[in-house]
Amino acid sequence: MIPHSCNGPLGEALLQDLNLPLEIIENKFFTAWYWPPHHPKQHSKFWGILKAFPKASQRFFVFRRLFPSARHSEDLNESFQEFLKSRTEDPQIFQFFNAIIGFALSINTTQITTAAMFRFFRRLYQKGKPGVPVGGCKAVTDKLVDHARMNGSVLKKSCELIKLELDGMEIESAIYQDRKTNEEFVIRAKQYILNLGYLQVNDLLSKSNIPFRLPTMPTAKGGGFAYRSKESILKTSVVAQFPENKYVKGAVEPTISSPNLAPQGEHLLLSHQVFHSSDIIHDTRRARDELLETFPQLKEENELCVHTFHKEWPVNYSCQGSDLSNFSSVIPNLFFVGDGYKGNNGWMMAEGVTHGVKQVVNSILSKHN
Ligand SMILES: Cc1cc2nc3c(=O)[nH]c(=O)nc-3n(C[C@H](O)[C@H](O)[C@H](O)COP(=O)(O)OP(=O)(O)OC[C@H]3O[C@@H](n4cnc5c(N)ncnc54)[C@H](O)[C@@H]3O)c2cc1C
Repeated sequence: MIPHSCNGPLGEALLQDLNLPLEIIENKFFTAWYWPPHHPKQHSKFWGILKAFPKASQRFFVFRRLFPSARHSEDLNESFQEFLKSRTEDPQIFQFFNAIIGFALSINTTQITTAAMFRFFRRLYQKGKPGVPVGGCKAVTDKLVDHARMNGSVLKKSCELIKLELDGMEIESAIYQDRKTNEEFVIRAKQYILNLGYLQVNDLLSKSNIPFRLPTMPTAKGGGFAYRSKESILKTSVVAQFPENKYVKGAVEPTISSPNLAPQGEHLLLSHQVFHSSDIIHDTRRARDELLETFPQLKEENELCVHTFHKEWPVNYSCQGSDLSNFSSVIPNLFFVGDGYKGNNGWMMAEGVTHGVKQVVNSILSKHN
């Protein structure tokens, strides 16, 4: 799912900057809120999100008292939880915000500053609904690979970067190992760009005897399930939010927009959950139980896969808002992109990664022009 469909940095890079032959189908609705016993309420415009709240007093509070604070939020470094606590005790308001960022960012309101939370909402307001690329993420990566090859890039797959070698202040070469044959080879370049999480980078720098380390970052913990189903579960292209759930905060059904992602007559449901402990097995089991309770139509034997991520895994290596910014290291020809280096600008997931890549590319080009 592309968080802002064609309108964010990723959609613009794919469709405008690179002009790739891709189609991105914008979701019909933003989110649908499953707040039992009410029917799910979905909305296609940003402010329709207020429909999420069961009570008029909650809608009034969020619209008139909370969102206007965004105008003066840039220096608010207290957690969003603290910010909310000083204004309301209504548990459903907390559940609402925890559901949104639990699904999108695998964190809760104690893990994000008020400033970062409002930046995240500002991007949603400015850039709108998510979308699904026809053919899924694979179509995007395939087209990017074709484009890179057509422009003279040489891509090496299944290789592990094992060491960087320094010459004076600059990286002089990178040593890779083929994961299948264990053969080692050396690459020399003018600039080096890494997309590894900070733990892996620090490990690499340590093995390379390079006396420089990235600062540690608070990390997000979560996981995702993929289920097949004979019947459509959500019926519309929407991010379904479950504010009362402890783990499974949201789910999407990408086959609504792109039916070719599943065999004919089948549907694909992807859920997303926050983990609360470091016991991944325990949290995965609890999350699965909760997902099957949320959608009794799903059958456990139809589970296709489960992802978990914690520390060095995506998503978001770091909690939203604590990424390093447009990061070039003290080593002038070593740059970082990807999760953990998205900056603190409100862009989420692949949108933030694309934004960071553009900044690094511009910075390298400006050195050479
Ligand atoms: C379940 C799940 C669902 C998601 N859904 C979405 C979504 O719908 N929309 C969205 O925008 N984002 C989504 N994300 C987030 C998105 O996947 C990440 O933001 C993105 O992949 C980050 O890109 P990256 O390049 O920083 O890291 P990665 O994609 O993790 O790439 C890092 C790569 O480096 C490789 N590697 C590690 N060490 C070495 C080494 N020493 N040498 C060579 N290679 C190495 C790894 O194998 C990996 O392939 C999702 C993430 C998860 C886990």
